[in-house]
Amino acid sequence: MTNPDGAPALSAKNICKSFGDKKILRGISVDVAKGEHIAIIGPSGSGKSTFIRCLNLLEMPDNGTLRLDGQQVLDAELKTPTRSVRSLRKRVGMVFQSFNLFSTHTALENVSLAQRLALGRTRDESSTRSEELLKRVGLKDHMDKRPGQLSGGQQQRVAIARTLAMDPEVILFDEPTSAIDPEMRVEVLKVMTELAEGGMTMMMVTHEIEFAKQAADRVMFLADGEVMEMGPSGQILTDPENERIRRFVNALS
Ligand code: ADP
Ligand code: MG
Repeated sequence: MTNPDGAPALSAKNICKSFGDKKILRGISVDVAKGEHIAIIGPSGSGKSTFIRCLNLLEMPDNGTLRLDGQQVLDAELKTPTRSVRSLRKRVGMVFQSFNLFSTHTALENVSLAQRLALGRTRDESSTRSEELLKRVGLKDHMDKRPGQLSGGQQQRVAIARTLAMDPEVILFDEPTSAIDPEMRVEVLKVMTELAEGGMTMMMVTHEIEFAKQAADRVMFLADGEVMEMGPSGQILTDPENERIRRFVNALS
């Protein structure tokens, strides 16, 4: 890489994945610039979750290359986790639809645990950082509550704070508001908007068209494991040329 500073935060080339003999991803490529926000939309079953799971190797692609800040972390031959794969998982954060918090731990402990285990931070260091992040996502008064005492929107904000605590270079979101009551979604979208405005590099699978219009620079429309269209969010979400995308967006708007 002759110009590492100009390298994309994340670069995926020709990502392919099959489950059994079923081709799920048929060669997906994308360069995500530093500070860029990409929304991934598309019908259920089109491969959105599989694709972003491939980007931090929760799923191992069958083929393709992956670079993080210009540094190769996966090539077509490398099929087993290596040191660089483990480091990739720390550098690429993930926020799931289903929060995945520890139900027996408080919000503060949920945010602190991975910092101690994965980053080796001390109890004090991790608590201080967790408090700061929980305040930032609007949960100052809820730090000592367990997930069962929090609304879906509050739990998802704990999960976002937990991801931020790893100081990731990129955050992947997989339908972060789909499991949350509509009236609680707005507070999660507000946190995501603030992150985007703060310059975080983000890829977000979402059905929230209004949010995507406002927060995403580009939109990737996936259908049948392929990129059907990729372009500026304003164009794709307001005036899509493709009839299938137009119908999809109209149904969600
Ligand atoms: P989306 O997120 O767009 O709804 P997914 O990536 O979850 O789509 O799924 C795409 C296809 O891959 C679906 O047909 C799904 O059943 C299949 N699939 C996903 N994960 C697995 C798996 N672990 N084993 C077998 N099939 C899977
Ligand atoms: Mg999905």
